[in-house]
Amino acid sequence: MQNGLRSANMDSMKSMSAIKRQVSKGMKCTISSCEQPLTIMTGPGSNKLCREHQLYQREYGGMGRLDRPYTFHRNLTCDWCGYDPAKDSRCKDMQEDDALIFIRSVLIADHKIRRHDDGTDHRDNIQTLCLLCNAEKKGEEQGLPSKYCATRC
Ligand SMILES: [Zn+2]
Ligand SMILES: [Zn+2]
Repeated sequence: MQNGLRSANMDSMKSMSAIKRQVSKGMKCTISSCEQPLTIMTGPGSNKLCREHQLYQREYGGMGRLDRPYTFHRNLTCDWCGYDPAKDSRCKDMQEDDALIFIRSVLIADHKIRRHDDGTDHRDNIQTLCLLCNAEKKGEEQGLPSKYCATRC
C-alpha cells in the first residue's frame, strides 16, 4: 500500500446492530451542507461521513481531510483559470497515488468570504484555486498590483 492510500474495496459492511443504531439516531454526515446518512461501510471516517464523502477523503486518495472539512468541496481544476494539474507535464510520469498527492498540493480550497469575516465552510463559500490564482487573490486583498500572468512554464 503506497503513501498510506487504501483501497475502498477493503472495507466491509458494519454490523446490522451498528447500522440500526445509526439509522435510529438519524446520524448524518458531518460535512457542512451534506444531509446524507452515515455510511453503512467500515473504514476511515465511517463514524463521521456518508459513503460518498468517505470515498472522497484523503485516506482513499481523494481530496478531503476530516480535520479540514471544507477541503471535501475542492474540485480537480482551478475555478479561476481552469488549470488542470492532471495535465501538467510534471504529473505525466507519476504513479496514480503520487499524481493525486501532487494535485492536492497545487489546488487550494479557498474561502470566498474569509472565515475571519464570518465566511462558512459551506460548499457555496468554497472555491478551488491553483497556487498562482491563490497568490494573486492574496495580493489583491492586500492591494498589491497583479503580477502573475496566466502562462505557466
Ligand atoms: Zn456527506
Ligand atoms: Zn488558477
